[in-house]
Amino acid sequence: MSTTKKYQVGEEITSVCTKCKLPLDHTIAAMVGERVAKVQCKTCGGLHRYVNPAAGESPARKAAKQTKLEHAWEQLVQSSSSKKKQPYTFAGPFKQNDLIDHAQFGLGVVTQRLSWDKIQVTFKEGEKILLSKRKVQ
Ligand SMILES: [Zn+2]
Repeated sequence: MSTTKKYQVGEEITSVCTKCKLPLDHTIAAMVGERVAKVQCKTCGGLHRYVNPAAGESPARKAAKQTKLEHAWEQLVQSSSSKKKQPYTFAGPFKQNDLIDHAQFGLGVVTQRLSWDKIQVTFKEGEKILLSKRKVQ
């Protein structure tokens, strides 16, 4: 006797929705043998292949994404390397292309000022939104 649950078309299953990008309740739409082939998302109604939520993102894909991020970050740091790095404080009046040293995220480059008190900074692990108050004259 097999202990593996046998699914049937019309049954409920948790799959990662390829549109919502979340593990959600789906209805099985098609089976290939004993394998769930297609599911329909109960949230967005999208019909797509079954993605086992336990599988997650493949390590290779994750690594490739990380390498790309690190490469972009390296280029930014290099292009700003002539500048003096400044320790990050939320009161710092940072400008675009400023090199900052963050206690938690390390070296980062200001890529954009989003508002009077927020900046977008690219760190090795990705982009972060940080507080930064522009100097008021
Ligand atoms: Zn969905």
